[in-house]
Parts: sequence; structure tokens; C-alpha cells
Amino acid sequence: MMTEEEGTGYIEILVECPFCAAYVPDDFECLKCGHEIFESVGDDSVKYVCSSCGMEVEFDQLECPNCGSSFE
Ligand SMILES: [Zn+2]
Ligand SMILES: [Zn+2]
Repeated sequence: MMTEEEGTGYIEILVECPFCAAYVPDDFECLKCGHEIFESVGDDSVKYVCSSCGMEVEFDQLECPNCGSSFE
């Protein structure tokens, strides 16, 4: 049985899909609509979220203000 260490997480980078406007992980393909996402998305179309709770955070934030996970 695996127990995740409590209180640790990471900052997940999401990009705005230019086709459906959903924020999805920075893969080459949109999770929602299946279109390929090229690297042409601007900085304004990127957001950072807590991997534990999904709260939007700053890219240099050390811990989540919502759930307290630390980003190491
Ligand atoms: Zn999409
Ligand atoms: Zn959180």
C-alpha cells in the first residue's frame, strides 16, 4: 500500500488550448478537444495550479494557500 507523503505537491503548468479555450496540461495534444497544441501559446495563456487541489498559484509560490501543500 502506497502512502503519499502528506503536504507535498508540485506546481502544475496548464496552457490554454487555442481551439477550445480549456486549460489543459502542457502536452502536445489537448485533453479536451484532441487538437494538437503548438508552442505558440503566449505567456498570458499559461497558468500554474496546485497539483493537490487545483487552486491557481503563482509560478514562484512555495506553498499552496488553499491546501498547504509545499512545492519542492
Ligand atoms: Zn482543446
Ligand atoms: Zn493546493
